[in-house]
Amino acid sequence: MQTTKTRLIHDLGLDNLTDYCKSENWQAFRAKQIWRWLYVQQATEWDSMTNIPAEIREQLASVFQLNAVSADSVETGTDTTRKILAELTDGDSVEEVLIPAGPRRTVCISSQVGCKFACTFCASGQAGFHRNLSAGEMAGQVLLAARAFGDNPTNVVYMGIGEPFDNYDAVLKSVRIINHPEGLGIGARRITISTCGLIPEITRLSGEGIQVELSVSLHAPDEALRSKLMPINKRYPIKELLPACREYTRTTGRIVTFEYTLIRSVNDSEDQARGLARLLAPLKCRVNLIPLSPVDEFSGRSSEQNTADMFMEKLADEGINATARQSRGGSVNAACGQLRFGGKEAGTTDGS
Ligand code: SF4
Repeated sequence: MQTTKTRLIHDLGLDNLTDYCKSENWQAFRAKQIWRWLYVQQATEWDSMTNIPAEIREQLASVFQLNAVSADSVETGTDTTRKILAELTDGDSVEEVLIPAGPRRTVCISSQVGCKFACTFCASGQAGFHRNLSAGEMAGQVLLAARAFGDNPTNVVYMGIGEPFDNYDAVLKSVRIINHPEGLGIGARRITISTCGLIPEITRLSGEGIQVELSVSLHAPDEALRSKLMPINKRYPIKELLPACREYTRTTGRIVTFEYTLIRSVNDSEDQARGLARLLAPLKCRVNLIPLSPVDEFSGRSSEQNTADMFMEKLADEGINATARQSRGGSVNAACGQLRFGGKEAGTTDGS
């Protein structure tokens, strides 16, 4: 689905849409009417916007692309997780993951085509970086998920391909779009932004006045190991990252979640559990322990179940609130760290 129209209507916030309608001398209420067609009725064709006059629809259609992303393929895992290959209007594609669990409909969306940060255990980072996604392309993934779920997602996590804080402005704009009460209305506390630890953006987020959840990938209890697993640690080491997270909590009142992928005989010993607990003791936080998802590019293996249990118990003994996140989507390579991108230059996604 390639097009010559490069402007996506979903890249406009309601304020931008209002300005556009004004610039066209349309009545003031048109902006909200169009907004509702985009995010409440979730129109995929201009002609379905029946209360918008035909000449306005024609003008919109001549300027804007209506569908920011389209589903190229959908794979369903054995655990009901679904992975969607979302095709962008320029021919690139990213993956998003739908995770239904009881009443929750969570979608994990991508923020970039590729990633610059090259964490060793993550397939998304291994093929390099291609481009940022726009706010509309991120909102478009949420709308695509709504169509696939048959209802709006209840939770959105920015944990797919890319580092959200490396595309900060577009990510925040997309958060405000999907959070807008006259549109999708996804509550800020049900939106999670995950980062590999970009300190300036953690600080910036604390000043945004929006109550989103912040999740920080830690994955190691010491500088040397974290630098090996996550090269970003050389720029933003643990000794600077954790004070920034502490300050984030002090400013916002929000608790930070630390993601810790358990890798067999690499970061899962009893000493390392104690080390992690010592590091995190001064913070109000929680820890998410994640089983390693296999990717071709990394030879590490997931911790044995009894080791994972021991690790969690040690953290609990030391007063750290830790939970074990179930790995979902592994049967369709949609679990954490397994997502890939494809497109004109990157080749196709591996998909399965
Ligand atoms: S874990 Fe996140 S930051 Fe690291 S390479 Fe993967 S997508 Fe990039």
